[in-house]
Amino acid sequence: MASSVRVRFAPSPTGYLHVGGLRTALYNFLFARKNNGKFILRIEDTDRARYVDGAVEKLIDALHWAGIDYDEGPNKNGDVGPYIQSERLEIYRKHVEQLLQNGKAYHCFCASERLEQMRKEMEAKKVDVKYDRTCLKLSEQEIQNNIEKKIPFVVRMKIPEHRTIAFHDIVRGDVEFQSDLIDDQVLLKSDGFPTYHLAVVVDDHLMEISHVIRGEEWLSSVPKHLLLYEFFGWEVPQMAHLPLLLNPDKSKLSKRQGDVAVEDYRDKGYLKEALVNFVALLGWNPGTEQDIFSMEELIEQFSLERVHKSGAVFNLEKLNSLNATHLRKKSDEELLKILKDELAKSKFAGKHFADEYLLQVVTAMRERVTFVKDFIEQSSYFFEAPTAYDETAKAKNWKPETSYQLKLLTAEFSKLENPKKEDYEIALHKTAQQLQIGNGKLIHGVRLAISGVSGGPGLYDILSILGKEESMKRIYTAIETIK
Ligand code: GLU
Repeated sequence: MASSVRVRFAPSPTGYLHVGGLRTALYNFLFARKNNGKFILRIEDTDRARYVDGAVEKLIDALHWAGIDYDEGPNKNGDVGPYIQSERLEIYRKHVEQLLQNGKAYHCFCASERLEQMRKEMEAKKVDVKYDRTCLKLSEQEIQNNIEKKIPFVVRMKIPEHRTIAFHDIVRGDVEFQSDLIDDQVLLKSDGFPTYHLAVVVDDHLMEISHVIRGEEWLSSVPKHLLLYEFFGWEVPQMAHLPLLLNPDKSKLSKRQGDVAVEDYRDKGYLKEALVNFVALLGWNPGTEQDIFSMEELIEQFSLERVHKSGAVFNLEKLNSLNATHLRKKSDEELLKILKDELAKSKFAGKHFADEYLLQVVTAMRERVTFVKDFIEQSSYFFEAPTAYDETAKAKNWKPETSYQLKLLTAEFSKLENPKKEDYEIALHKTAQQLQIGNGKLIHGVRLAISGVSGGPGLYDILSILGKEESMKRIYTAIETIK
C-alpha cells in the first residue's frame, strides 16, 4: 500500500465543522499519516442553495485547530486541483457529455410540477418512487428541439435493470444492492452544476483516491457510484463507511441534544487533544485497555480494520474526563500559556499578573480543574479579593467569636518575615493553642475570609500564593464585612 494511499475529506461547507465531520477528517488523516499517504481536502459546494459565505475558511480553521493538516486542498495546490468543486464545472460537464454519448445517461426535460404529480401518484399506489423514464423515450430530434427551445433540463443516469451490485466495505463487509430499487439519479442539474453523485465519483477518480472513508449515511449512495465507475471504466477505490454517531438515548446525534459544532467545543474551552482523543474513539478502539491517546499514538495505532460497525455513542462525561486528563498531562509552562490566553478573554483582561504568580496558581489548582477556565471560575480569589462570601460556609463557619480569633491570628501573621507555607501553619497552630480551640476552627474562618468560599487547594498554599499583606488585608475586610 505504502506510497499509493490517497484519501480525502470532502465536506460541504455548511458554516461549521460537525463533530462527525471531524471524525471523518481525523480517520482519513490518521490513515494517510500511518501509511505515508496523502490527505486531501476537497470542498463539495455544488449545492448552491446551501452556499454559506466564509464557510470554507471556518472549516479550514477548525481542522487546523484540531491539528489536522491537509497535504492538498484549497490554498495548497497539488497536481489534481482545483480542490473546490464549483471551480471544476467544466470537468463535470465533459464527463456528463461522455455518458450521454455512450447511452449511459439521458436528458430529462420534465418540469418539477410533473415530477411532483408523478411522485404523488406513485405514493398513492404505494410503489417505490422512481422517475418513470418518460424522457428516455424522446428521439434525438425531440431532444435537440427542446434544447434549442431552451427548455430547462437535467441529465439522468440510466440505471441498468435487474442487476445485483455488490462490493466489499472495509468496515461493513460484503454489501449488496439491487439495481431495480435505484432511481435514475440526476447527475447534472438544470443550473449546470453536477449533483454530489457525479462530482464525487469524477473527483475521487481524477484525484486518484485510493480509499474512500466517510460516514455510514453515504453507504446507500454507493451502488450509484459503483455504476458510474463501471460506465466510465474506472477502477473503484476501496471503501470504509464509519458508524453513525448517536446521542446517549441512541437516536442519531443531533443539535437538539447538545453541541455538534467543533467550534462550540473549542469556544467552551475543550482542549484539542481531548476532542481529538474523544472523536478517535467514536467508532474505533485499539483493542487494548488504552484510552488516552496523543495524535502521534493515534497515528501509530489506527487501523480501519479496528473500526466497528455499531453506532458510537457521544458521551459528554467521557469527553470531560478526557479533557481533565489531557489538561493534567500538560506542563506547568504550557498551562501558564493557556491560562494567560484565558485571562485575556476574561473579566480580568488588562490586569497584570506575574508569570511566577500564575505558575503558583497553576501548581495549586492543576489537579482540581477540568477546563482551563476553571482556574479562573473556581479560584477567582487568586485574581481578585472576594466580593462576596459563600452563605452556607458563612452560616457554618463564621461564629460571633471568629472575628476576635482572626484578629489574634493576623497579629501572629504580622510577625512573620517572608513567610513560607509552613510558617503560616506554625502561626495558625500557635494561635489555636493560645485560644484553646482546634486548628480547624481557624482554618475554616481564614479560608472563608481570604477566598470567599469553602473549598479549594490547601489553605497554606492559598496564603503563601496570595502573600502576607494581601491575606491580612482580606482577613481585615472579612472581619469588617461579615457580621
Ligand atoms: N460532501 C459530502 C459530505 O458533505 C461528502 C460525502 C463523501 O465523503 O463522499 O459529507
